[in-house]
Amino acid sequence: MSESAVPNTTTNAGIPVASDEHSLTVGRDGPILLHDHYVIEKMAQFNRERVPERVVHAKGSGAYGVFETTEDVSRYTKATLFQPGKRTEMLARFSTVAGEQGSPDTWRDPRGFALKFYTEDGNYDLVGNNTPVFFVRDTIKFQDFIRSQKRRPDNGLRDHDMQWDFWTLSPESAHQVTWLMGDRGIPRSYRHMNGYSSHTYLWINADGERFWVQYHFKTDQGVDFLTQEEADRLAGSDPDLHRQDLYEAIERGDNPSWTLFVQIMPFDAAPDYRFNPFDLTKVWPHGDFPLIKVGRMTLNRNPEDYFVHIEQAAFEPSNVVPGISVSPDKMLLGRIFSYPDTHRYRIGPNYTQLPPNRPHVPVHSYAKDGPMRFEPARVAAPYAPNSKGGPAASPERYDDPAAGWQTSGEMVREAYSLHREDDDWGQAGTMVREVLDDAARDRLVSNIVGHLLAGVSAPVLERAVQYWRNVDKDLGDRVAAGVGKG
Ligand code: NDP
Repeated sequence: MSESAVPNTTTNAGIPVASDEHSLTVGRDGPILLHDHYVIEKMAQFNRERVPERVVHAKGSGAYGVFETTEDVSRYTKATLFQPGKRTEMLARFSTVAGEQGSPDTWRDPRGFALKFYTEDGNYDLVGNNTPVFFVRDTIKFQDFIRSQKRRPDNGLRDHDMQWDFWTLSPESAHQVTWLMGDRGIPRSYRHMNGYSSHTYLWINADGERFWVQYHFKTDQGVDFLTQEEADRLAGSDPDLHRQDLYEAIERGDNPSWTLFVQIMPFDAAPDYRFNPFDLTKVWPHGDFPLIKVGRMTLNRNPEDYFVHIEQAAFEPSNVVPGISVSPDKMLLGRIFSYPDTHRYRIGPNYTQLPPNRPHVPVHSYAKDGPMRFEPARVAAPYAPNSKGGPAASPERYDDPAAGWQTSGEMVREAYSLHREDDDWGQAGTMVREVLDDAARDRLVSNIVGHLLAGVSAPVLERAVQYWRNVDKDLGDRVAAGVGKG
């Protein structure tokens, strides 16, 4: 090997190559030879550089960091990461939902807020959004909802008519659409938005007592937004604005942080609560369940390779650790199947061995083989039970996180049972009347009208006006006037 400080280029097998410039040819002007393995390897590798993009949340950005539990919430959960003083390594990925990999960061859309905590009991994933609610409440409608937001099959275009058609036929969407059309529908940056579990989860303490919980990660940078006009301009001039902002902030040591609060509902309070606490289209008003501080998450390290660490990151709500379990939220239960399933398709069945997904604790699983497996199966025998010293599950040591609550009843296809104040419009109306100020309400009207005037057909427009009147009469009247239906 030469004494040069620059290493010689090699093939993927580590063999030094002869040229970065020239293929092997028969004479200077002759054809390229098939046995020029290096040039063939370059072309073949390039043809396989992409994995399928995520069907939702395709465009994302992320960073590593740490979560520190600064308060004592041990009376609610025994989860190791939430014990006082505990510091846990983590990864965060923020994303838009409907746009593809190359789409602008500033399109109006909810934002994904996906977190992976590398705890001493394995990976805990909290796969939330920057909104506390969602467009649908039953997983059977999720695929339809997403298709209405993506591209038409005939011409490959996104289509506001499709979006409003679905929303106005799905009144449970009203709370989330109100939120989306308001200021928070376009955050100023990923650093300037909150994150919410959106779903209700179950916490279990060391004495086996159970509590329903909702998570709120409040940005320490302050919530800030872009107006529609700013966002439209930036979509052209700076489509990767939010990715760049996050990366550069961390590079200059301006590490963004979020303070985690939770709302806690006693386990037995759920059946009689005024809203169905498992309905993803509802929040728990703060006046009923005040925020309780837990700790702080700080992002402090950019990934050294975007594809390896962010594109290959695989978050799944199925990853819950002892002290945390799921709830009867029908969207959450659907996602528990859907997320690992999509990862197996997108990045292969051994995706948990990839760097961002690898737990920081030893894995004692009986999984073996499959494409791209590179960790040996470190078990004494490849089956359980065995008498060779292989791992053995013991219910005395660990509760079953999938079995946190009891239920009974006939098998039905029906909506959630209605609680006292459950309806599709109420909480959206509260936001419009009690949370927004006059200026925010004006922007809400302007955003809705602008969206509706971009290609929504007459019958859908009629329904949209009624939809907004159901949320709030005055808002609906203003929308009607704005779209010429007043
Ligand atoms: P509060 O007055 O206690 O809370 C209202 C919350 O609204 C604020 O805390 C803030 O959430 C959020 N908010 C402020 N501006 C906007 C905006 N432009 N778009 C969306 N959210 C905004 O009232 P309640 O808890 O009784 O809730 C009233 C309504 O507020 C709900 O119907 C819901 O629409 C909305 N909301 C409630 C949340 C909850 O978990 N209770 C969370 C978010 C919204 P934050 O403090 O998280 O920034």
